[in-house]
Amino acid sequence: MNGSNGLRQLYERSRKNGHRLLKGVGALSLCAAALAVVITRNVAFASALNPPQPEPAPVEAAELLQEELPEAEPVREYALLCVDGQPYFAFATVAEASSAIASYVDQYAGEGVDSANLMESISVKMGVAEPWLLSAAEQFEDLAPVLFHVETVSHSHEEELLPFVVETVYDDTMYVDETVLEQAGRSGRRVTLFEEKAVNGLTLSRESVETVNVQPVNEIVRIGTKEHLSTGSYLWPAEGILTSPFGRRSVAVGSSFHKGIDVAAAYGTAIVASDGGTVIFSGWESGYGQLVKLQHENGDVTYYGHCSSLLVSEGDEVRQGEQIACMGATGVASGVHVHFEYRPLGGDPIDPQLVLPEL
Ligand SMILES: [Zn+2]
Repeated sequence: MNGSNGLRQLYERSRKNGHRLLKGVGALSLCAAALAVVITRNVAFASALNPPQPEPAPVEAAELLQEELPEAEPVREYALLCVDGQPYFAFATVAEASSAIASYVDQYAGEGVDSANLMESISVKMGVAEPWLLSAAEQFEDLAPVLFHVETVSHSHEEELLPFVVETVYDDTMYVDETVLEQAGRSGRRVTLFEEKAVNGLTLSRESVETVNVQPVNEIVRIGTKEHLSTGSYLWPAEGILTSPFGRRSVAVGSSFHKGIDVAAAYGTAIVASDGGTVIFSGWESGYGQLVKLQHENGDVTYYGHCSSLLVSEGDEVRQGEQIACMGATGVASGVHVHFEYRPLGGDPIDPQLVLPEL
C-alpha cells in the first residue's frame, strides 16, 4: 500500500470511521458542521480533498482520527419556535419558547376579553439553529407583532333608558281639582350585548348579539272634570238688615233659642244660595213656612225660611249666589225676612255669622 492508491485506501477507511464516529456524535445532517471542525484540525480524510505531501503513516493517521474526533464539540440543539412548521426563532429551552409566545398572547387578554387566540399555527421542536434564528429570538418582542396575530373576542353591554309615557284619563265623576295617580310610571331599559372582534388590538367588527327589553310601565293619571258646586265659603242669603242674630232671645212670652239669623228686606227680595249645593228640601215646613234646604259639598246644610215663593225643587243643583226663592213671611214670622240657618255637616245649627262675611 503505497502511493496514491494507499492513500486512497486510508482515506476511504478513515471516512467510514469518521462517518461512524460522526453518527455517534449527532445526526447525519450535522456532518457538515462536524466536518468543518475536522477540517480545521487538518484531519487526514478531510485533507484528502487536497492530498497531503508527504503521506502520513496509515496507523498514525487512524490514531490521530481516533484521538481528535471525541474532542469535537457536541452540536447544540435549540427549541425552535415554528410557524406552519417553519422555524422563526430559536430559544434555549422549550419553556422559554412557550413562555415568550404565551406572554405575547397574554398582552391582548385584558379586562373584558373573553378569548385571545393566536391565529397562526405554531409549534416548538428541538433542532439545530442557524445563527439568524438565535438573533431573531433576541428580538422576539419586536418581531412577534409582525408574525403573530392574536384574535380577541370581547363582550360589552350598553344600557338605554326607555322613558314611560304619562296617560291622562278624564273622569267626570271626579271634581276638577281631584287627581288620582292610578298607576305609577316606571322606566324601562334596553340592554344590548355587543361582541367585538379585534386582531392585535385593532377592532375588526362590533355587532350586537343580544337585546333585552324591559318595557316601561305607563303612568296613568285620572283627572276630574266635574265642576264644583260649592266654594266652601258663604254669602249672605239676601241683601237686607240683620234684624235678629243667632241665639237666645226674648219673645212675647218667655224666651226662645233662635237657631239662625233673620235678614229683612222688601217682600219678594231675591234669596240666593249662600254657597252652591244640592236642594235637599223645597216645600212647607212647620214654623219655617216655605223653606229651602241646601246641602253643600262639604256636607254642611243651609236653611232659607219664610219664603213667599220657591224657585227650586228637590234634587236641583244650584250655584253660589243663584236665586232660589223670594222673601216673604210664611210660617211663624213677625215680618218679611229670610230666616237663615247654618248646620255644619247637617247637624245642629251654629251662628251663621261665624262663616259669613262681616257686615
Ligand atoms: Zn228667624
